[in-house]
Amino acid sequence: MKDSILVLNSGSSSIKFALYDGDGPGLPIIGYGQVSGIGTTARLQAFGRDNAAVVDLQLQKGCNHAQAMLALVDWGRTREASSSVIAVGHRVVHGGELFDTPVQVNKQVLDQLDTLNPLAPLHQPHNLEGIRILAKLLPNLPQVACFDTAFHSTLPKLARQFGLPSDLYERGIRRYGFHGLSYEYMAETLPGVIGAEAAAGRVIVAHMGNGVSMCGMIEGRSVVTTMGFTALDGLPMGTRCGDLDPGIILYLLNELEMSSAQIAELLYEQSGLLGMSGISSDMRVLLQSNATSAREAINFFVYRINRELGAMTATLGGLDALVFTAGIGEHSAPVRRRICELAAWAGIKLDTRANESHTLRISAADSTLPVWVVPTREEWMIARHTYRLLSSH
Ligand code: ADP
Repeated sequence: MKDSILVLNSGSSSIKFALYDGDGPGLPIIGYGQVSGIGTTARLQAFGRDNAAVVDLQLQKGCNHAQAMLALVDWGRTREASSSVIAVGHRVVHGGELFDTPVQVNKQVLDQLDTLNPLAPLHQPHNLEGIRILAKLLPNLPQVACFDTAFHSTLPKLARQFGLPSDLYERGIRRYGFHGLSYEYMAETLPGVIGAEAAAGRVIVAHMGNGVSMCGMIEGRSVVTTMGFTALDGLPMGTRCGDLDPGIILYLLNELEMSSAQIAELLYEQSGLLGMSGISSDMRVLLQSNATSAREAINFFVYRINRELGAMTATLGGLDALVFTAGIGEHSAPVRRRICELAAWAGIKLDTRANESHTLRISAADSTLPVWVVPTREEWMIARHTYRLLSSH
């Protein structure tokens, strides 16, 4: 049996996972999947490294998080996966000002992370619950927390501030930024893909998945990003609204008499592509739809990316490369084309064929600004942090 590293992203009703061969630093993937429907009709689905389904299992009715975790660890030991989990890396949304690097979790660290729950109420408590459950089930198994905020610890204060009284900044109301594991992977990978010189320059990465954000980097460090105090800020997403006039929240509260729970549901779950189209949060569905509302939602999506591209380019003082990544960024040629057409002002000239075939470089040879498509690997990044942290101990 080989050693393996399990990577977990624990949510309220699902646990996404990936399993990596932990025998060496290359960390090839063994399998991945998710347990969905926790608390109701839970189902464990796992896929091998060739994306073929290897497990599709109905778990017991009402299966809770602890039972789902056990099912996962058991799967890691099955013949298909044929490995022994030696450590677990967790995606934890918020490290706040406390953690700017991954950390091996103990009771004290968990207590500190608990204090950040109010900053990400929909994600952080579930991330931490996953760690607690495993600590109880398998107390000797090392667990490492990797933070979505950590990569943005290099943001200058100017980029972190909102126009609020400064005591609120001191109390932690500031821009943290998210999708940091994706951007960190890019910062490490881009020199080998787009060239060391370009990667050391001014680069904007557009992470466009269900969650959407952009990050402007100089010398591979985050200097500006669209997500803020929470992962609601910035660009419109699958179901999240992106930036808003804060007066709207007051109006919803005071005039429409919505409760804070209703507003949270509206902003996190019912807005973005889903809310605007009234059809779906899935870009594939919207692209295939003839409905005006679907077209308008896509129009708004690409309009906002272009607007942010302009603002970020100004902040960086120019731009040396644009990179698309995540579900939409990696797979949706029409959305990339629309963005690049709007961003002709930046000197982008698209190579239509390259774009359609999702090659690495999708800009034409005579494009002033090179544009790239680079797949992200957030889970692998967590496995690598976990491996490194354990190896250093
Ligand atoms: P998450 O943020 O949950 O990790 P992903 O990175 O998987 O999400 O991205 C999900 C998004 O990617 C969805 O909007 C989905 O429609 C979109 N997507 C995936 N494949 C395609 C495709 N071939 N064309 C257009 N959009 C796609």
